[in-house]
Amino acid sequence: MNHVFKNRLIKDNLELFNIKKIQINCNIGWYNLLNVMCKQIQDYIDKNNKTGKYLQIVDPIHIDKVDLMRQPNITKVSSKNNVLEITVIDSNQYIDGIVNMAQAISTVTCNQCSKQKINKYASCIACFNKQNK
Ligand SMILES: [Zn+2]
Repeated sequence: MNHVFKNRLIKDNLELFNIKKIQINCNIGWYNLLNVMCKQIQDYIDKNNKTGKYLQIVDPIHIDKVDLMRQPNITKVSSKNNVLEITVIDSNQYIDGIVNMAQAISTVTCNQCSKQKINKYASCIACFNKQNK
């Protein structure tokens, strides 16, 4: 991902990234997927953050049970075996679910042009051919 988009992704999702430590190594076609994933995670955090220090996550099934957690941090974004790989620290099951969904969508999304793809490669046939000319 080029610097302009990388910086925009970080700037738009500052709470989720540690600017000094974050590693983002993937192509631009997954930018929107990553940005939407970050927004979904932070929306969930903001809705549950009552104290500002620890997030009070209420278990939807057992509403008397409250879990405390820290602000999660995304430390690494990369492409592994043509799938988006995302490392989140201080995550929970709900956030893991959002991340798993983003990873699943990356398997059917071209990592260069964002169009739907049906092959097992990271990019669609058109982008693959363009690259290997
Ligand atoms: Zn493509």
